[in-house]
Amino acid sequence: AAQAENPILKSLNAAQRRAVTSNASTVAILAGPGSGKTHTLTSRVVWLVQQTGYQPSDIVVATFTVKAAREMKERIGKVLGPDCERKIVLGTFHSIARRYLSAYGKHIGLDFKFGIADDGDSRAVIQRICKRHDFNIDPGYARSWISKKKAKGHATEPAPNKKQPENPSLNECYREYQEHLERSNLLDYDDLLVRCVELLREYPACVSNIQAVLIDEYQDTNGIQYELMKLFAQARQRITIVGDPDQSIYGWRSAEIRNLYRLLRDYPDTDEISLEENYRSSQSILDVSLTVIQQDKKRYQKVLLPVHTKGARPVLRKLKSSAAEGDWIVSEIKRAVMMFGDMLTYEDVAILLRSASLSRHIEAALGKAGLAYRMIGGHKFYERKEIKILLDYLRAIYQPDNNDAIARIINVPRRGIGDTTIKRLIEEAEQLKISLWSLLRKHCQGSRKATTKILPKMEQKLNTELLRIISNLQTQAQQITEDSQHTLVDLIEKLLSQLDFKQYLESEYPEDHEQRWQNVQEFLSLANDFVRDAANLEDEMLPEIEDVDQVKDDSILGRFLANVALASDAQKNDDGAEKKAVITISTIHAAKGLEWPVVFVPSVYAGSIPHSRAEDLDEERRLLYVAMTRAQALLYLSCPLYGSQGMGAKVELSPFVSPFASAAFSKQGASFNRPILEGVAKILGRDLPSEKAIFAKLPTMFSPEDNLFPIDPIDTRDAEGLEDSEGYRPKGPKRQRLNNQGYG
Ligand code: ATP
Ligand code: MG
Repeated sequence: AAQAENPILKSLNAAQRRAVTSNASTVAILAGPGSGKTHTLTSRVVWLVQQTGYQPSDIVVATFTVKAAREMKERIGKVLGPDCERKIVLGTFHSIARRYLSAYGKHIGLDFKFGIADDGDSRAVIQRICKRHDFNIDPGYARSWISKKKAKGHATEPAPNKKQPENPSLNECYREYQEHLERSNLLDYDDLLVRCVELLREYPACVSNIQAVLIDEYQDTNGIQYELMKLFAQARQRITIVGDPDQSIYGWRSAEIRNLYRLLRDYPDTDEISLEENYRSSQSILDVSLTVIQQDKKRYQKVLLPVHTKGARPVLRKLKSSAAEGDWIVSEIKRAVMMFGDMLTYEDVAILLRSASLSRHIEAALGKAGLAYRMIGGHKFYERKEIKILLDYLRAIYQPDNNDAIARIINVPRRGIGDTTIKRLIEEAEQLKISLWSLLRKHCQGSRKATTKILPKMEQKLNTELLRIISNLQTQAQQITEDSQHTLVDLIEKLLSQLDFKQYLESEYPEDHEQRWQNVQEFLSLANDFVRDAANLEDEMLPEIEDVDQVKDDSILGRFLANVALASDAQKNDDGAEKKAVITISTIHAAKGLEWPVVFVPSVYAGSIPHSRAEDLDEERRLLYVAMTRAQALLYLSCPLYGSQGMGAKVELSPFVSPFASAAFSKQGASFNRPILEGVAKILGRDLPSEKAIFAKLPTMFSPEDNLFPIDPIDTRDAEGLEDSEGYRPKGPKRQRLNNQGYG
């Protein structure tokens, strides 16, 4: 009875409630998309704090994306208050590992001021090594080979033996790469996990307080993450995992579905719970998604029943070209947003792509129509040249032994130091086994006139324009703490003025320096937001544990940089669109676990999905399944006749949908009638739009030349097999063309 009254349990179904309140030490929830796994996991955290009396700081929760972490934190904060939200150790495996390493890393000989080499940094280092030694290997391949090698010590089984003998240079490349990272005090993404495993193994005291470990998206954990989970749980062995084998889409990054069997073997008393109702999508969206995944005959079968009504038929549309596909998507978005009055906004729309490179024609079409969007799953913002320069300066200020950062800014802004000189300096530093920073200082202090010749004039310049700026700002950076007067924004502003950065942009980029300066301003506001959040929420300190020595790194700058490095789904748009109602463009991979009322999946053709270079067809199918199951109310698939890649060759509809395309989809546009509007309102828990609201939008959204009924005749020879079998026929006499179809 007490359970039924508890507000967190009230909204749950029986199976979810059982999962939330289970007393078993290990709980595994395996269930399909939209069945409330994440919802249940979040509720269990609340339950553990409220009913079991665990301290929030004694609970570790791992999510797959930064966005998912943020959403979960918010929900927990709402129920348990900001203090709990602040203290709970919740984030991606990488960010949790980073926190532990900076607090306790000294116990395994790590300098707590380590930097993080993101994928781009790692690749650049490898590229340089390959070039220097003339290694005949593709740097991208070497990067993933090294990554797999690092994960290997922790894999369940040895990776299948490739028939090809391995390129012997790979080992050499690995060795040098690792030496380079160590010299620069950098950890790459894999190192964060590997070193954290080492820490928790050798120094279990630092997790002796942990009462419970909870993991979302378990199907995509890899061997090291499994190891980490076990180590975090070593004190109490209380683990809750939720996952869905059908949504395992990171096999290419060493995720192991076998971790599931491993868990059941390692924890034989696991309480297995399944959730069988889908709360997310309309019945027809769920039906068509299940049809896709059921083609996989080897899969572990689960029950997944719709709780919602049928709803609008999913749409599958063939277009003449990629450009036409982009335009069609725009017109369908406009039409949906209009038809649903105030019930839907652009914020409710997501466009999910197999690969980020497919976004070009979509972005062009949205841009043409003046629709704002944001990108998830691309580093777009932080990859801008002007932002990268500032980040490199900040990295150098925080951590002068970061050789990569220093090397990139030696001659930016221009100081007359050529690439050859920089290369020589790097080599000299490597030979002397000192950092580039120390070497430069030696040069400029005149204490070392050695191998690399730098003209005295240049030395002077380096000294005043680089070394002095960095040293001065270092002092200031140390003074930035949460409650001090000095702020991160002050620091960046000072950096900008000392570099005369505005002037630099003007001379270097005469055409678009204004836009770039705008980005710099955006960067400042981002830093400002971060400091505010850091002060309010993200107290990254770990709890005090008796007799355990902890480094309290309260450097806001360090945390800001780590945050940037780990923000793999940084959501920033050209015009800082974050606050406005904008359309989301995302890769399918980055959309995992999320949901939107309206979802578009463009470029559903063979070669794109399944991808032409994909090794695992089943994983490609699961990827499409993940994309489709993100949709709550409206789902649109589309396919151009000619692909956008390469020479724009003719493409075929993806084999994952072609067998049942004509039966399951509408080939025109979505049809909106009263019952459908009502169904959508129910799924989204929103009010039905008034007719007034719908008509009010009409004149503002469409210009006279807009084709409100954008169903232009398509070449039916190419659209074969896409006949709309059921269709929504217009009432009254049959019209000539189809262009009034479905607006009943
Ligand atoms: P995925 O596999 O895609 O990560 P999931 O199983 O984690 O999906 P959730 O995201 O937790 O599913 O839930 C899907 C949607 O259903 C959410 O909007 C959630 O609020 C809602 N939901 C979950 N459980 C219930 C319930 N018992 N009653 C009503 N709505 C629910
Ligand atoms: Mg989820």
